[in-house]
Amino acid sequence: MAKKIILLLLPIILTMGCTSNNTPPELTPEQSNFTQTSTYHDVVEVVKYARKNAENMHYQIFGHSEMNKELPLLIFSKRGANTPEKAAKLGCPIVLVVANIHGGEVEGKEALLRLVIDLTQGKYQSWLQKITLLLVPIYNADGNDKISRKHSMHQSGAPKGVGMRANAKGLNLNRDMMKLASSEAQALVQNVLAKWDPALFVDLHSTNGSPHGYHLTYAVPLNPNTDFRIEQFQRNVMMPTLRKQMDKKGWNIFPYGNFETNQPEAGYYTFRPMPYFANNYAGLRNRLGLLSETYSYMDFEQRIAVTEDFIKSVIRFIVRHSRDVQDLLADLKEDYVHYSDSLQAGISYDYTREPCDFNLLISDIDTVYKENSNKKMYKRTGIKDTVASKLYNRFRITAWRSVPFAYALDNRTGAYDHILKNLSMHGIHYFISDLKQKAKVRQFEIDDLERTGKTLQKNSIQKIKGTFNTDYISLHGWVIIPTSNTNRPLIFQLLEPEAEDGYAARNMLGDIFASKPFPVVKVPEPVKLK
Ligand SMILES: [Zn+2]
Repeated sequence: MAKKIILLLLPIILTMGCTSNNTPPELTPEQSNFTQTSTYHDVVEVVKYARKNAENMHYQIFGHSEMNKELPLLIFSKRGANTPEKAAKLGCPIVLVVANIHGGEVEGKEALLRLVIDLTQGKYQSWLQKITLLLVPIYNADGNDKISRKHSMHQSGAPKGVGMRANAKGLNLNRDMMKLASSEAQALVQNVLAKWDPALFVDLHSTNGSPHGYHLTYAVPLNPNTDFRIEQFQRNVMMPTLRKQMDKKGWNIFPYGNFETNQPEAGYYTFRPMPYFANNYAGLRNRLGLLSETYSYMDFEQRIAVTEDFIKSVIRFIVRHSRDVQDLLADLKEDYVHYSDSLQAGISYDYTREPCDFNLLISDIDTVYKENSNKKMYKRTGIKDTVASKLYNRFRITAWRSVPFAYALDNRTGAYDHILKNLSMHGIHYFISDLKQKAKVRQFEIDDLERTGKTLQKNSIQKIKGTFNTDYISLHGWVIIPTSNTNRPLIFQLLEPEAEDGYAARNMLGDIFASKPFPVVKVPEPVKLK
């Protein structure tokens, strides 16, 4: 009897909530009157719809979350670019947009789902002639589904809660671009960034912080080791164009920053240029990078709308400037195969001494309380004021080191296999030297090692200072990492002994400092090593 009832109910259950194949699913925010965000399951439903109906989309699973959820990568191309090799052959820019790196910052995910539906329904097809578009709608899939009212309490709207910031292991994915401790960052860097080599990597967030008057703030690559041509193109061409386009739609966008609440006139400061941030990491690969931060004191519906308009404006910009972008990447590729022993790069940085004068918009903010909660929340009601302030969003190098022809790592015992794995995931080329004769090297000696007591991603941070001495040693069996390629700034940042966020600073070379020679040496001049 029980079986019969189940069988009778089955057709009803199967049709509940289902749409026909070519009708897009209603998105969760719209369905819930903007009180809920999409779960992983909801995202998968939209992906299924696109897989059934999109003419120009290819679907891949680029990796798995720590809790083993499949991470979808949607590849849109009208020219059949369904593999990195085919996309590279087309000679047109690849644009990557990643949503939800922080599970509680959900607007990018909702905006990308709208874009997926638009593309599936045949809109914006001319874009797909000029670019290959890669979309990662739910990067921190585990964090997204830990939905709670207690997360991101400062956010206006979506009162039924959002996911958590970190991944399931408690790691912050936007601090993990260098060390690659999380399965998510490993998958993104190895299977998307290193393989597809996108010309632009857009990383979508939401921000609280200072009550400035901008609907959305952004950051280009900030690390001063990034090639100046990337910075110039983004700061002088790309962002002014995007600001104008967004202004026409009624949105104020501006570089990311914060100020002391009582002293907005004293300065508006961006964040540090550390390589572990996604936008800075893209720059160190000598590619365009863009952080987008939707302002969380607006309501949920507005936040999705501004993010959607921003993403579409960014894509349109690359479509219109596809030739310029390809020319820029070709110039970089050509220049970086050459090596000069006068090359230098920075190991530490500070804000530029020459901030720009500018007029800072200040929001009018109401303090309200979340539904069923005594937690304070801020709500943007408009612009209150304009204050003359100083913009600190550029960095200068405060200490320089020479860039070698190659780094060499002594892994003859296999003690640094984990470093080789990390280099491979970044797509950095290396080989084992079979050179018998001695080569000139610069050997590092530690003068000062400060164990800061600080941890990053559950990993202790140390500050190292030392000196280099010239020596002649056999590199037979050593791992050689040449720097004559476009990843040169990234290679320097990982292997230079004193670099912030490098292998040594992140305590990835083991406790080798007291007795043994430092395991990485610099090969200062072009020499045959194989
Ligand atoms: Zn964030």
